[in-house]
Amino acid sequence: GLAIGIVGLPNVGKSTLFNAITRAGALAANYPFATIEPNVGRVTVPDERLAALSKVFTKGERVPPIIPTFVEFVDIAGLVKGASQGEGLGNQFLANIREVDAIAHVVRCFTDGNVVHVAGKVDPIDDIETINTELILADLAGLEKRLANLQKKAKGGDKEAREQAELAEQILSVLGEGKPARAGSYEGKIPKEFGLITTKPVIYVANVGEDDLGDDNDYVRQVREYAAREGASVVKISAQIEGELAEMPEDEAREFLADLGVQESGLDQLVKVGYETLGLITFITSGEKEVRAWTIRRGEKAPEAAGEIHSDLERGFIRAEVIEWQKMVEAGGWANAKSKGWVRTEGKDYVMQDGDIMNVLHNM
Ligand code: GDP
Repeated sequence: GLAIGIVGLPNVGKSTLFNAITRAGALAANYPFATIEPNVGRVTVPDERLAALSKVFTKGERVPPIIPTFVEFVDIAGLVKGASQGEGLGNQFLANIREVDAIAHVVRCFTDGNVVHVAGKVDPIDDIETINTELILADLAGLEKRLANLQKKAKGGDKEAREQAELAEQILSVLGEGKPARAGSYEGKIPKEFGLITTKPVIYVANVGEDDLGDDNDYVRQVREYAAREGASVVKISAQIEGELAEMPEDEAREFLADLGVQESGLDQLVKVGYETLGLITFITSGEKEVRAWTIRRGEKAPEAAGEIHSDLERGFIRAEVIEWQKMVEAGGWANAKSKGWVRTEGKDYVMQDGDIMNVLHNM
């Protein structure tokens, strides 16, 4: 699944948000929980399509269970000014952050005299730049070490090492200008082994008090401007409110949000933006047994998507029956959908679309 790392200066609301995430995850029923580390929380990806389909396939008392996809949030502690010089948790921090797909950068946009700000005053742009500088410095240090190794190998005649060394040098010159690696354009694809942090997409999470959830305050406006220049997304949340929402039944939570002037919880928004940022889409398998969502990358073809369900299904893929989820709701079941001619037969080159329901025909 998708993993999002939560970073930010101390006292900006990361733990408050993370606690809301773990509580929300604990409440999300019908999920076979695996034991995961204390710094990892899982939330289900909100998807109203699944509930609609579960109704379609309900037979009397038998309601097919909904199995949603989930996103993992990783609490990445230890990022403080000087982390790249070994302050804070240093290495553990690097190990954690290298594993995630995207970064949620929590920024303090609330004022509260009782909550100390590490830099003495609330200044979101200054905070953002402090963290971004640490991330850039961490990448610089890591990549310089790698470059030295690559150069050694290149001298020994290793052609691949020479190409990688050239790429590393290009990236280092971008980092050296104080820019994240993602700001540059390079000839080759950056290998995963480079372990870079600043290639990962960032979502800025503007943490506000409940009074500012409706209209943006000045701090949020500043964050939005900054993010727009980087081409990054912003999600405005109130970490404290998220904590309260995580404790409420769904309908109560919805009412509470409406009173605050918002339609969707900050966590739900964050999950959705995470999906968009990473180019992920959902396809669905659906019947009387269960209604289940699966995550794939935009552009994936039917056999790869089938492989998400089971690797045998990718190898033994013959063709797939595909229908848009709305059509299935309208038809009220597979049989009727087929008789209306709404179920298409798609082959190996079919590019999956968000909201497709797929039934794989295979020879396994
Ligand atoms: P962390 O160090 O980034 O993990 O920050 P915490 O989550 O521990 O939050 C630091 C303090 O700020 C705690 O006392 C929180 O209760 C408080 N806090 C977090 N979010 C908000 C908020 O939206 N409004 C206000 N007033 N306080 C908040």
